[in-house]
Amino acid sequence: MRAEDARDDKKRGPERNGLFAGFGARIVRSLFFWGLAAILASSAYTGIVKIRGNRARPEGDGALLEVAAQAKTKGRGQAQEQKRVALTFDDGPHPYYTEELLDGLKERGAKATFFVIGKNIPGNEDVIRRMDEEGHLIGNHTYDHVKISGMDKTAACEQIEKTSALIRELTGKDTEFVRPPFGEWNKDLECSFVMIPVLWNVDPKDWTTNNVSDIVRRVLEDTENGDIILLHDYYKSSVRAAIEIVDKLQSQGYEFVTVDELILE
Ligand SMILES: [Zn+2]
Repeated sequence: MRAEDARDDKKRGPERNGLFAGFGARIVRSLFFWGLAAILASSAYTGIVKIRGNRARPEGDGALLEVAAQAKTKGRGQAQEQKRVALTFDDGPHPYYTEELLDGLKERGAKATFFVIGKNIPGNEDVIRRMDEEGHLIGNHTYDHVKISGMDKTAACEQIEKTSALIRELTGKDTEFVRPPFGEWNKDLECSFVMIPVLWNVDPKDWTTNNVSDIVRRVLEDTENGDIILLHDYYKSSVRAAIEIVDKLQSQGYEFVTVDELILE
C-alpha cells in the first residue's frame, strides 16, 4: 500500500444509532439485503460483476453474471442510450488532493464514489462530510488497507466495521459498498451489516506513474458504457488525470454517476 499515514489509529467504538443498528435492525438489514438481491437479479445489473481481463474473479453467482451479460448486450443495441460510467477513487481521503478533486468534480457536475481507508479519516473529517454533501458515494476500503481474503473473519469484519462506523458518525449514513484492497474478497464473510463488494473493469494502474497524459490515455482507450474506473485520489497526478478524463468523456456524451446508480439502473 502506498497510501500510508503515520497518524496513530484513533480507536472509536462503533456507533449504534444508525438506521441499521441494534438487534432489531438485523431484521431490517436482512430484509434490505434480500430486497436488494431481488432487485439486482431482476434488473439490468452491470455493476460489480463486469470484470474484464485477468482481474480478480467477481463476486456473485452465475445467474447474476448471466443477467449482467444480457444487460450489457441489450444496452449496446440502444442507439439513444445515455452513456454512463462510474469513477471510483481508492485509498483516500488525502488532505490536499481529495479536496482538489472535489472542486473539479463539482465544477463539472460529475459524481464519483470514494472507497476510503478508515485510518485516513481522522484529521480529514471535513473532506468526508463534503463528499457526502456534494452527492458522492462513500464506500469502505478497510481500516488499514488489508487483504481481506487472507484474514481471520473476526479481524476482517473489524476492519470493515470500524471504517463504516467512522463514515456513519460523520454522514449519518450506512455504507454497504466495499472495495476490497487488492481486489481480493472473501465471499463467505458475514459481518454485522450488508456488504456489497465492488471491483472495477478499467484499471489504468495510475499508481505506477506520475504522468497525467499516460493515465488519461489508458482510461480513454479502455472505457465503454457502464464501466467502473479505478483511480486513487491519493496522488496529484491521478487527481489531475481524473479531471481531464471527466472533460474528455463528458464531451463524448458520458455522464458520471455513483456506483450504486450504475448497479441499480
Ligand atoms: Zn487500495
